[in-house]
Amino acid sequence: MTDNSVSGAARGACLCRSVQFKAGFPTLFCCHCHCTMCRRAHGAAYVTWVGVPVEQWRVTAGAELLRSYESSDHGRRMFCGNCGSTLCYESSHHPERIDVALANFYEPIDRAPEFHVFFSDRTPWTSIGDELMKLGGESGFEPV
Ligand SMILES: [Zn+2]
Ligand SMILES: [Zn+2]
Repeated sequence: MTDNSVSGAARGACLCRSVQFKAGFPTLFCCHCHCTMCRRAHGAAYVTWVGVPVEQWRVTAGAELLRSYESSDHGRRMFCGNCGSTLCYESSHHPERIDVALANFYEPIDRAPEFHVFFSDRTPWTSIGDELMKLGGESGFEPV
């Protein structure tokens, strides 16, 4: 598949701009994740993820700087070896897609955030006032 076979795309980069990437549209979803692993990995109250089919994902520069870390028995997180920006997540539970941190895009994607996951695990200092669906509970994906 060549880059021009997707109808639209958004580009992004890490903080030092060494790692550059591109995600082709349509993306699969966009959600806020409040799980403890995302929070620690990104040093943030929650992480906003964009699901991208792997065949629509390209690292266009700095691939040699991409480092990864096994954050669970099924998941791997990728970050820039130079600046440490946490960029993406892949899981053996859904090998057909890669989750990319929305904050690292510098061009708009094809959708707005749609729901929250692991909402029950949010920090007590996180206040959310939006009308989006909140999923949480034991699995992180049940209506709460
Ligand atoms: Zn970097
Ligand atoms: Zn998470």
